[in-house]
Amino acid sequence: METFTVDEDTLDVVFSKMRIEELSSEPPMPFDGFMESKRKELVIFDLNKVVCDRSRGKYVKYYDTADFISKISKRYRFAVWSSTTPKNAGPIVTRVFGDVEERMEFIWFRDKCVPVPRTHFDTTKPLEKVFTDPAFEGRWNEYNVVMIDDSPQKMVDNDPANVILVDPETEPNYVELLTKLDDRFRSLSRNV
Ligand SMILES: [Mg+2]
Repeated sequence: METFTVDEDTLDVVFSKMRIEELSSEPPMPFDGFMESKRKELVIFDLNKVVCDRSRGKYVKYYDTADFISKISKRYRFAVWSSTTPKNAGPIVTRVFGDVEERMEFIWFRDKCVPVPRTHFDTTKPLEKVFTDPAFEGRWNEYNVVMIDDSPQKMVDNDPANVILVDPETEPNYVELLTKLDDRFRSLSRNV
């Protein structure tokens, strides 16, 4: 089978013209036993290759995302930062996060990313923007935020201590990811 790779951002143009059959046919996910986390740590999710895969022309929710997000939502605050547009990413957020979408700290799209000079589509996601955004009143800092992303080039401005990179070639193992998050927040809090 012929395979090829395309930068995530360039797909916006292509996918905005496509029907999203996977999304429109699935019912929203149920979340049982949701309790708002009293914790003060924040997990920021990228979308593509972290909670879903849209590399073959349609969006597919990763297998056990619902269980993972349900567990995350009980332990941590959470948010989304996607480098795509609201038009493309909005429906994915709704489908993937379902009932807990309204409890997210924020949902950021491409307009919050920083364009990389002399490129057409490349962007970075500097966490400094989260740390300094007046809307969050200083709640988030380098000791209580971890971002999960599959693009090292979008993370270049961030301290690796605040980033968990997943391999875009394989669906993340959510049990491992949860353990990594717990470990990471433990070590960040030791640095305060
Ligand atoms: Mg991604």
